[in-house]
Amino acid sequence: MIQTVVPNPAPAAWGTPLQPGAKRLMLLGSGELGREVALEAMRLGIEVIAVDAYPHAPAMQMAHRAHVINMLDGAQLREVILSEKPDLIVPEVEAIATDTLIELEAEGWTVIPTARATQLTMNREGIRRLAAEELGLKTSPYRFATTKEEYKAAIVELGIPCVVKPIMSSSGKGQSLIRTTDQIDAAWDYAQAGGRTQGQRVIVEGFVPFETEITLLTVRAVDGTHFCPPIGHVQIEGDYRESWQPCPLSPQTLAQCQAIAASVTESLGGWGLFGVELFIQNKIQGEDEEQTVLFSEVSPRPHDTGMVTMVSQTMSEFELHVRAILGLPIGTIALTQPGASAVILASEAGAPSFSGMDAALAVPTSKLRLFGKPTCRKNRRMGVALATGTTTDQARERAKACAAQVRVTVSAD
Ligand code: AMP
Repeated sequence: MIQTVVPNPAPAAWGTPLQPGAKRLMLLGSGELGREVALEAMRLGIEVIAVDAYPHAPAMQMAHRAHVINMLDGAQLREVILSEKPDLIVPEVEAIATDTLIELEAEGWTVIPTARATQLTMNREGIRRLAAEELGLKTSPYRFATTKEEYKAAIVELGIPCVVKPIMSSSGKGQSLIRTTDQIDAAWDYAQAGGRTQGQRVIVEGFVPFETEITLLTVRAVDGTHFCPPIGHVQIEGDYRESWQPCPLSPQTLAQCQAIAASVTESLGGWGLFGVELFIQNKIQGEDEEQTVLFSEVSPRPHDTGMVTMVSQTMSEFELHVRAILGLPIGTIALTQPGASAVILASEAGAPSFSGMDAALAVPTSKLRLFGKPTCRKNRRMGVALATGTTTDQARERAKACAAQVRVTVSAD
């Protein structure tokens, strides 16, 4: 644990939900991660207001109140905040009118972890320039491009293989790995179509032949900065499929990871849990260390790969986030046993129904979280299987076996 002096603006004290004096937490984004944040907040007697772009989103189904708005529309965002007067504004997704969050923070509203952090991390350019150019952290080589000519020039400079991503996108949308020159045009078109807004800038990154990629969950709280044991994960087409904890690292590599996470989270500031994504590469020529750690991305909120902590730690990433943002101490974060998660994806669009849960839960130690999303589309994450074991390999096998039993069938909606 790193001891940092974090000012505590107010002692922890609150009333009861739906009564005068209640502490109100507004989730901006009400997916599966928000649902767990809502549950943890409610366990501590907090009033929860869930906001998202569609009705019956997972966290809305258990919040005290829910609102459906376009969160990218600053006027709608301001209106819902002024009407609900939340004590804490807690973004769960990146696609939010962050300019409005900056204004609201200046007017005295509390944005978790800070409005600037939400703005820098909603856009790959903001966080990459902060990490690489201001903080001097190692990253993949990169270029930004707005036009196709700039894009082609970037590929010439960085070489092939390289990875292309819209600067505003998540879950692998619009992302391509270019291995041969004949893939260059298609990757550009896909990035233009797959971003959060049409026709946007892209980042071209040199491909990193990493040994392992990890998420280092990092908590900034009243009692300092804390790190969870590293989480290993597998991503396919830019989206997470499996994660496990702990991911064994040498003490030197872990120290590099923690130093990077401390630097970037300190710079973003505020309180809460951050998911710091790192690539670990074996010895690079000219480097002193046996392994080199590259910063990839950071989420200033619970991370999808961190769902494994619901079975592997004494406090899940959601409990840690809620404690931190309420100004409560974290104490010691302990791993209880090796754990793993495996995602359950939809294969097509429509109204989902689920079967096979009986066979799934016959897998020893397994648990299921079905998110309750009202509709699915191809590859949408609908649930997650969790399991523990005496080793992470055993936990991974169990989580995958459990997930494989759950069938998502759809009827036209
Ligand atoms: P991102 O959305 O940037 O987190 O990318 C999603 C996933 O794509 C990562 O977790 C990696 O597995 C892979 N990836 C992204 N960028 C690179 C890169 N420069 N080199 C190798 N793999 C990458």
